[in-house]
Amino acid sequence: MALTLSRKAQAVKPSSTLSITAKAKELKAQGIDVVGFGAGEPDFPTPVNICDAAIKAIKDDFTKYTPASGTMELKEAVCKKFKEFNGISYEPSQIVISNGGKHSLTNTFEAILNPGDEVIIPSPYWLSYPEIVKMADGVPVYIKAEKKQEYKVTAQQIEDACTSKTKAVIINSPNNPSGMIYTKEELEAIADVAVRKDIYVVSDEIYENLIYGDQAPISIASLNDEIYKRTITISGLAKSYSMTGWRIGYTGSSKEIAKIMGSIQSHQTSNPNSIAQKAAYEALVGPQDSVFTMNFEFDKRRNYMYDRVSNMKYISALKPQGAFYMFIDVSNLLNKEYKGQKVNDLSNLAKVLIEDYNVAVIPCDDFGFDDHIRLSYAISIEQIEKGLDRIEKFINDVHE
Ligand code: GLU
Repeated sequence: MALTLSRKAQAVKPSSTLSITAKAKELKAQGIDVVGFGAGEPDFPTPVNICDAAIKAIKDDFTKYTPASGTMELKEAVCKKFKEFNGISYEPSQIVISNGGKHSLTNTFEAILNPGDEVIIPSPYWLSYPEIVKMADGVPVYIKAEKKQEYKVTAQQIEDACTSKTKAVIINSPNNPSGMIYTKEELEAIADVAVRKDIYVVSDEIYENLIYGDQAPISIASLNDEIYKRTITISGLAKSYSMTGWRIGYTGSSKEIAKIMGSIQSHQTSNPNSIAQKAAYEALVGPQDSVFTMNFEFDKRRNYMYDRVSNMKYISALKPQGAFYMFIDVSNLLNKEYKGQKVNDLSNLAKVLIEDYNVAVIPCDDFGFDDHIRLSYAISIEQIEKGLDRIEKFINDVHE
């Protein structure tokens, strides 16, 4: 028998957000002064009370298996948070604690998809959605939200994309990479379509705490009983509490789906890390001032980045309302000449920026837009300033 490999596994593209970030870190380790606008990873340390809870867990020997779908105390804390922050009532039996947001998405699609089921993915989208859907034997179906629609799809677009094979639609608000937030009215219209078409909504709310200005994100499951029944609400601790490496995510869903996800998880990973669960509990029930302090800083960085980008020629962006990304339209920059060559696509642009200007950016072709890049402002204002100076210098160095 030939030693062949899984076609499905071989078709998986590696995550470019993680590989670009790794590349920037590697160059830094070699002493090269790179500014990394790559992965959305807060530069703040994990708050002290959270770290102390983890240290206590180790000292208390809370280092053994927990129930596969998470501890009861953490599930109860998640229910309280869902109730008070999102306005959704879940019981602990509807909660599954996982090894991070990606894992919650994986559990979700494994629980709901049969081979060939279609999942509608509004573009721009976080690059891991299509890969996770495909790994669960689903088929991604893309619908595009143009800049003039503030990178948000309409309910009509979702309805038009529905076929007899449609199983779910992904909603991500605040959105990675655009930073846009769906309004209550927009979500009501989407909920109406999901109920009429009898499909699930997978609502990725990982950036729910990172909001600036007046528009608070709404959880689609909070709108009415019908949409509540068909929504899987996903969140996690990584972004809000600067806990990217701790790997704790969670879902709220029907009991039936939660039971399936718990069973899958019991074979695939057993429980999420016991120590990280104690830390997550403290993050949710402990003082929340660190969340406000971080948000205040992100907001300053967002304003600074937006002002700078708005004043640069050839590029433009909408002001993000949440998360910590700026989604930049570089269509007028592509096809300009640099060192006698056309900068004709995003990978070329990203290559020139990292090699000649020491700035790492995320080309967004893997996010469904081949003429946009993403900059994360989860880095210090000094780094942002330095990186934007370099991008501006590049812009001044190109010509028609
Ligand atoms: N979700 C973050 C990002 O989009 C972290 C990296 C990743 O997991 O893709 O940058």
